[in-house]
Amino acid sequence: LFVVFEGGEGAGKSTQLTRLAERLREQGRDVVVTREPGATAMGARIRSLLLDSSGVEAPSPRAEALLYAADRAHHVATVVRPALVRGAVVVSDRYVDSSLAYQGAGRTLPVEEVSWLSSWATGGLKPDLVVLLDVDPRTGLSRVAARNEGTDRLEAESVAFHERVRYAFLDLAVADPKRYLVLDASRSAEEIAGQVVARIEEMLLG
Ligand code: C5P
Repeated sequence: LFVVFEGGEGAGKSTQLTRLAERLREQGRDVVVTREPGATAMGARIRSLLLDSSGVEAPSPRAEALLYAADRAHHVATVVRPALVRGAVVVSDRYVDSSLAYQGAGRTLPVEEVSWLSSWATGGLKPDLVVLLDVDPRTGLSRVAARNEGTDRLEAESVAFHERVRYAFLDLAVADPKRYLVLDASRSAEEIAGQVVARIEEMLLG
């Protein structure tokens, strides 16, 4: 089973991902928790090129899209597919939808081209479920600011950028509702975790 958490900045993905993994491990399941960008040693270098570009110029939008795609291709080939083959539950913090939302809608690259690039990179591997933690960008960005993480980089993007990202995620969910669980990220962490676990147990048992 391949589960992906998506959402804008400060949506609470990592909290929810950790809770889900703990719950599944308590049930004795083999769980692989992973993320994009940066799950592999090579990915970590790509992540730092993308996100802590001190001393390096910011990539152009197409270069950025290719770097995310390179990270994803290597991640799928060396982490995700091998784990799925051995029967593990793979839970990833971000996947293809993040590229459609950030590089496509956010950077205004044609979404169908980003989609093509991602499907080439992944060999067409799709998640069984995408948990979309939907958050208003102002709320999400203020949560991130309160944690004091990466605010310079995030503040460089306009609220309009983050709103395009948000609506791109929601549009993807509307286009393929069976594959998505859309949750309001302003609810309590307990409530969200309960809904996520209920849906995944239904999938694992059904
Ligand atoms: O989820 P996480 O906070 O680790 O993501 C790091 C950053 O990478 C996010 O702030 C997001 O803006 C950016 N990102 C992106 N395009 C992607 C994936 C992540 O711009 N495809």
